[in-house]
Amino acid sequence: MGRTFYVNGEFVAEQNAKISVLDRGFLFADAVYEVSTVLKGKLIDNKAHLRRLARSLAELSMAPPYADDEILAAQMKLLEMNEIDEGLLYLQVSRGVADRDFAYPANAKSSLVMFTQEKSLLDSPMAKQGMHIISIPDQRWKRRDIKTVGLLAPSMGKQAAVDAGVHDAWMVEDGLVTEGTSNNAYIVTHDKKIQTRHLGHEILSGITRTAVLKFAKAAGYTVVEEPFTIEAARKASEAFITSASSFVMPVVNIDGVSLGDGNPGPVSLELRQIYIETALQHQDL
Ligand code: PMP
Repeated sequence: MGRTFYVNGEFVAEQNAKISVLDRGFLFADAVYEVSTVLKGKLIDNKAHLRRLARSLAELSMAPPYADDEILAAQMKLLEMNEIDEGLLYLQVSRGVADRDFAYPANAKSSLVMFTQEKSLLDSPMAKQGMHIISIPDQRWKRRDIKTVGLLAPSMGKQAAVDAGVHDAWMVEDGLVTEGTSNNAYIVTHDKKIQTRHLGHEILSGITRTAVLKFAKAAGYTVVEEPFTIEAARKASEAFITSASSFVMPVVNIDGVSLGDGNPGPVSLELRQIYIETALQHQDL
C-alpha cells in the first residue's frame, strides 16, 4: 500500500494528494516548510519546529492554517497511518489559492500539506566515513532566516556537489561561509572551540543547531558564534554540519583538502552521540 498524504484536513492516497496550479506556493514559492525527524515513531523537537514555522509565517504575514495543537494532532495521525518508525515528516504551508497577482491576496486561505518519508537515520555509513564537500557562492535571497520553499539555489548547489562527486556544498558570501545547502556549518578549531556563524538574516536558525550548541556547552566546549572563511575550515581540526535529518555529520574533506587525517573527528562524533542519545530519550531537546 502507498503512503498516506495530508492535504488540508484530509488524509488521502498519493494520487489524490493535489493542490491547485493557482496555489501561491507553486507560482511564487510563497510557502514555508518544516522537516521534523521521527525516531522510534516519535517526533523529535517538533515543538521547536512548530515555533519556527509560526515565526516564518509571521515574517511573511501569512495566516497559520490551523492552531498548533491541530497541526500536531494531524502530524501524529499521519505518522500512525504510515507506520513510520524512523524517518522524516515534511510539512508545508502556502498562502493558498488566488488568481495570479504579486501582492498578497486579501482573503486566500493558507493551505497545509504533509507527508512522511521512511529513512534510516541512526545507522549512517556517512557518519562513519565523513562527508566531502565543495564550496560554492551563496546565490540565495537575503532572508534565509525564513524557511521558504524557494529552494532552487540550494538545489543548484546540491547538484554542483553531485556533479563534483561529493556529498554537499557550503555556501560562501563575502568570503565567509554562510551554511550548507540544507544544514548549518561548523568547524572545530585546534584549541577545540566550536565555531559556527552567528544567527541573522543570512542563515536559517537550525533547530538542530540550537540543540547541539546547548549540548556542546553542557559538555564543556567553548562555542564561538562567528563566521569563518573556507580557508579557516580547510585548516580546522574538524568540521561538521547539523540538520534534523543528519543530526551531527562529520565533514572530512573540503574542496579536495582533507581535514586532519581525513577521518571523522572526535568532537563531531561525540556531539553526534550526545544528540542521538538525548533524542532517543526526550522528544523536546
Ligand atoms: N540551513 C538550511 C539552509 C536548511 O535548509 C536547514 C534544514 N532545513 C538547516 C540549516 C538545518 O535546520 P534544522 O536543524 O532545523 O533541520
